[in-house]
Amino acid sequence: MKISDLGEFGLIGRIQKLVPRKSSSTLIGIGDDAAAVKISASHTLLITTDALLEGVHFDLSYTDFFSLGWKSASVNLSDIAAMGGVPRYCLTALGIPAGISVEQVTEFYRGFNALLKRHATELVGGDTCFSRRGLVISVTALGEGDPSRIVTRAGARPGDRLFVTGALGESAAGMELLESGVRSHESGVGSKKLRSAIRDPQSAIEKLIARHLRPVPRVEWGRKLALSGCVSAMIDLSDGLSSDLAHICEQSRVGADIIADRIPLSPALRRMSGTLARPLLRYALSGGEDYELLFTVSPAKVKKLCSLKLPVTEIGSITSGETVSLVDPQGGKKPLSPSGYEHFRKGGRPLRHIK
Ligand code: ADP
Ligand code: MG
Repeated sequence: MKISDLGEFGLIGRIQKLVPRKSSSTLIGIGDDAAAVKISASHTLLITTDALLEGVHFDLSYTDFFSLGWKSASVNLSDIAAMGGVPRYCLTALGIPAGISVEQVTEFYRGFNALLKRHATELVGGDTCFSRRGLVISVTALGEGDPSRIVTRAGARPGDRLFVTGALGESAAGMELLESGVRSHESGVGSKKLRSAIRDPQSAIEKLIARHLRPVPRVEWGRKLALSGCVSAMIDLSDGLSSDLAHICEQSRVGADIIADRIPLSPALRRMSGTLARPLLRYALSGGEDYELLFTVSPAKVKKLCSLKLPVTEIGSITSGETVSLVDPQGGKKPLSPSGYEHFRKGGRPLRHIK
């Protein structure tokens, strides 16, 4: 059987079935943003790993090495944030092809450590190898969680309200601009002006590109949400809202209704609607790599959530049954199938793409 017949998540399901039995200290195994293992009565370790491959996850023709290091750290810390944990340590394994210089690797670690420093997290080890083809980056992040406050994908219940932090779709729009060479901008891809703008984005274009190249993991927000005790399920938005919501629904055995015009789109994204190739909602639903948090709250705890004063938007609710639907402004309801990024998807393009 071909792997594309199963797809990424079908294959992970197969791997999961090959695990003989979870030991009693494994609180959460395969299937969530991070694994949780009990290492003593009072300590739970959160562990997650993510690989970034050249030509699949990043394109060196428009990605600088500082941003690449930053993003490699960010996507891993985001999974710790999605469990409500505190990141502590990281390990990096690199497969480096011919043609990559010492200066570029140094720049990668400058970016990596800059992101870690923001979250008081430390690089403590890794592995370094030669790669015959393409740059391979694998990062493992370790964090701590309060055993009674860890939030999984499995706790959503019918009637719960659905929330998201920040705004969605910017990263995918930024990637589209980068792939198109940002022709509409006076500073093209790779120009010094655009590179320095990533640090301090001013225009809408620069903001979208910065969101794609240097995402920020919502560690403090995830922690606050978990400690407040008002969140029943949570996931970080790495593949796209439609796909990541499907993961919560699958694990929680529920459905969901999303109200289309409640999905938060930033002013920068709205400003670029004339330049971008697709309707804005597509970037939010299918784009991915926003690294915002998607979470559910029981109606009785919504007041408590509001008291946290976090930048969150209510975008829908959890339903019984298994269908995820999108409700349009006229009240029409359509099933929403997962259209975010999936490895091995039939007919998929090599780079992260939007349907
Ligand atoms: P995320 O998008 O949050 O990083 P993934 O979709 O990559 O999560 O993975 C979903 C779950 O499957 C996670 O619990 C992850 O640890 C697990 N997983 C993915 N690939 C493998 C693998 N090859 N072996 C074991 N577990 C895996
Ligand atoms: Mg995740």
